[in-house]
Amino acid sequence: MAPTARSKSRSAIHEFDLIRTLQQRHSRHDPSVIRGIGDDAAIVTSGAGKWSLLTTDLLAEGIHFDLRTATMADIGFRAAVANLSDIAAMGGTPQYLLVSLAIPRTGANNQVHQLYRGMMAACRPHRVTLIGGDTSASANGWFINITLVGMVPPRKALLRSGARTGDLLYVTGTIGDALAGLMLLNEPPSKKRPSHTAAISTRHRQFLVGRHLHPTARLAEGQWLSAHRFATSAIDLSDGLSGDLRHICEESHVGVELDLSALPLSPACRAYAAFRKLDPAALALTGGEDYELLFTLPPRRKAEVERAAKLHRFRITCIGAIRPARQGIQAIGQDGTTHPLPNSSYEHFK
Ligand code: ADP
Ligand code: MG
Repeated sequence: MAPTARSKSRSAIHEFDLIRTLQQRHSRHDPSVIRGIGDDAAIVTSGAGKWSLLTTDLLAEGIHFDLRTATMADIGFRAAVANLSDIAAMGGTPQYLLVSLAIPRTGANNQVHQLYRGMMAACRPHRVTLIGGDTSASANGWFINITLVGMVPPRKALLRSGARTGDLLYVTGTIGDALAGLMLLNEPPSKKRPSHTAAISTRHRQFLVGRHLHPTARLAEGQWLSAHRFATSAIDLSDGLSGDLRHICEESHVGVELDLSALPLSPACRAYAAFRKLDPAALALTGGEDYELLFTLPPRRKAEVERAAKLHRFRITCIGAIRPARQGIQAIGQDGTTHPLPNSSYEHFK
């Protein structure tokens, strides 16, 4: 999950290399593990044709959230959505929740209850049941770890590894909003000049801040993509499109051509970008935590899927196409020229 504030570290850790090394050193063949490290959730089977999904996310104060700009209820809500979204990206249904907390000396009972209020507000519509967790003191700040268990019908999970050359690349909803919302929250109101926030409408501001504090996990969309076997691969956007796209390419051994002029941007995101003189596409490529789904589908299903999406009122946008791995990750700019897409999304320890 992409953090709210950038951490500084002197260690030479590279997040994704570290995970790959851990996988190589410590995972082993186990026939009950359908998918281990490397996807949005692990898939395990206990036999009898049942597939379970398991995912976990850790939020650290000062890295993923700031108590000056978010309430404990907001933080709980986002923590739950981060996990629900990983189940959505697998096409699954969430079921059980485990919550582990490390609470600083300054922490109060009331804060914990507020945190749970937010967490359960995100989970309740999906009928997720809290079944356990762990509680500890913390020497420095809050740590919130959620583990979510879900299920998916056997062989219907959406994996990062199924994209094929020629497939079309789609995304749900609009992207870049959560980053714009976070930037708005972090802008100090200046007394000397009109505040940045005054320059965009209250409606746009509320929309963007809402998209950051109360994102939506696209569970219905994920289940729909999986039930009809529409998608060949999927991932949720938690670190930023430019980086999350790379995970599909790596796991599927493919390249991609991303059409920057096709990125679905909300009017509020465009308004914020115009005011701050930012490229809205850069917000969409860099911004993590939109929790939209990025997925691929064979071109022959394009019309059928787009028709069905309209019927369900799911917003989906075609933003590119899968290419052979040797072509790498390319972006077609507004001017029609193609160039390699730099990775501008969040990575810990960078
Ligand atoms: P997501 O952004 O979808 O939550 P991550 O990028 O956090 O996914 O993780 C990618 C994969 O690496 C997942 O399969 C996750 O379970 C695994 N992973 C991440 N950190 C660790 C770790 N410390 N030990 C083992 N596996 C890890
Ligand atoms: Mg994910």
